[in-house]
Amino acid sequence: MIRPKDTADMAQPGARPGAETLDSLTGLPNRRRFIEKVEALIDQRRSDPAPFAVAIIDFMDFRPINDVFGSEAGDDILAQAGMRLMNATNGETLVARVGGDVFGVLMPMAFNESAARGTTELFCDLLSAPFDIGERTVRVACTAGIALWTTPFQQAAALVRNAETALYTTKKSKSGAIIVHDRAMEEEARRLIRMEQALRNAISAGMVDVHFQPIICFRRNRIAGFEALARWTDPDFGPVRPDIFIDIAERRGLIGPLSRVLFEKALIAMRGWPEDVFLSFNLSPSQLSDASTAANVMAALHRHGIQPNRLELEITETAVMANPGAAARVIADLKTHKIRISLDDFGTGQSSLGRLRELPFDKLKIDRAFVSSLLSDHASETIIRAILAMCHGLGIKVIAEGIETREQAARLVQLGCHGGQGWLFGKPKDTAATAALLNANGLAKA
Ligand code: C2E
Ligand code: MG
Ligand code: MG
Repeated sequence: MIRPKDTADMAQPGARPGAETLDSLTGLPNRRRFIEKVEALIDQRRSDPAPFAVAIIDFMDFRPINDVFGSEAGDDILAQAGMRLMNATNGETLVARVGGDVFGVLMPMAFNESAARGTTELFCDLLSAPFDIGERTVRVACTAGIALWTTPFQQAAALVRNAETALYTTKKSKSGAIIVHDRAMEEEARRLIRMEQALRNAISAGMVDVHFQPIICFRRNRIAGFEALARWTDPDFGPVRPDIFIDIAERRGLIGPLSRVLFEKALIAMRGWPEDVFLSFNLSPSQLSDASTAANVMAALHRHGIQPNRLELEITETAVMANPGAAARVIADLKTHKIRISLDDFGTGQSSLGRLRELPFDKLKIDRAFVSSLLSDHASETIIRAILAMCHGLGIKVIAEGIETREQAARLVQLGCHGGQGWLFGKPKDTAATAALLNANGLAKA
């Protein structure tokens, strides 16, 4: 089965000479061969340094294709994509399959940015046209990053990496635009590497922290639980926003160790909370597709003597979409242990109503974007009403995020929200301040 980002066919360091250089599915050169070709061109150009370009083209949402239509359909599309690219190359341009759903293009005659863009756009257009799979047709959007070879010292692997950095930048912006690697990106990439190293050290030294934000039950008009939110202040970088360092951790394989430290600290803090106050903890996309997540969570709860029904795990729809099959299994595992699942940031991602029926969510958290515009924008209120009607029917509780004013809270209560969270009720605070808040609310541990 072909999965996006499959690296089985990528060149491995130290692979034996003469090992396979063609990808068996598409018949295109594989990553190893692609880099060899870039190296060979660099050797040729050293004496006559005319620039050239490399592009990395990636399908944006390929994984759902395998999940929805089956891996054979996925293979079929990739084979057709390879054929389209091959047919469109002239004698000079080389196309390769450099990853699961990722193609590389070497453009020896693209002497400048605009020529490189022109050719890359053409290839992207070819891949964005509908594919026939059996009776159906499917479209998959793609995007690309480009890097130009302009200095004789630049190595092939670094050039390809620059194109991948540009690709990552455009994917992150979700604009779908084709981006050319530039100096600012290089600076940013270096900064991220330094930050990654600092984060790695902070995690192993236990220097990442967790703060808690109250979640209010509207019916009882009291604190029902707290959401754990990661905090990290580095001596050089200062306070780093959690969405930034969580993203680094996620991409660089640090999310497991980071989450373990945070979860451990959160469970220790819970010792000072009354038994009926729950903890809501955010799960990252990779944890949602990791089959050992439920066992790890249960082991930690057991170590701290905390009942699983005091835990809620927040997941986002984007994380579910990244690997729906695996996510469904992890969620089912957690549910058998009576851990509750809430769907975070509802309204910002794909927000498919079908997903609410397919997966056993206990709660849904309406994103702050709707709450902040609730009183000024009629459409936001209509959407919140629709979400509430749907969740009431499905037995899912609804929590509103980012409540900052009394007026917003009053309206949300009137509309039928079960609970809320936001600066009106409290900003995220450290363990000691959280215990003090509970005390001040007459909720000290019995
Ligand atoms: P989230 O899970 O949606 O968390 C809610 C975010 O909204 C938090 O931002 C919180 O501080 C902020 N917020 C809460 N109330 C208000 C309000 O009234 N007004 C405004 N303007 N903002 C409010 P924060 O702490 O910066 O976290 C950002 C995101 O980072 C979180 O969004 C979550 O997706 C992620 N994150 C944080 N901690 C963790 C963690 O431990 N693990 C994982 N996987 N992700 C985490
Ligand atoms: Mg959350
Ligand atoms: Mg949220």
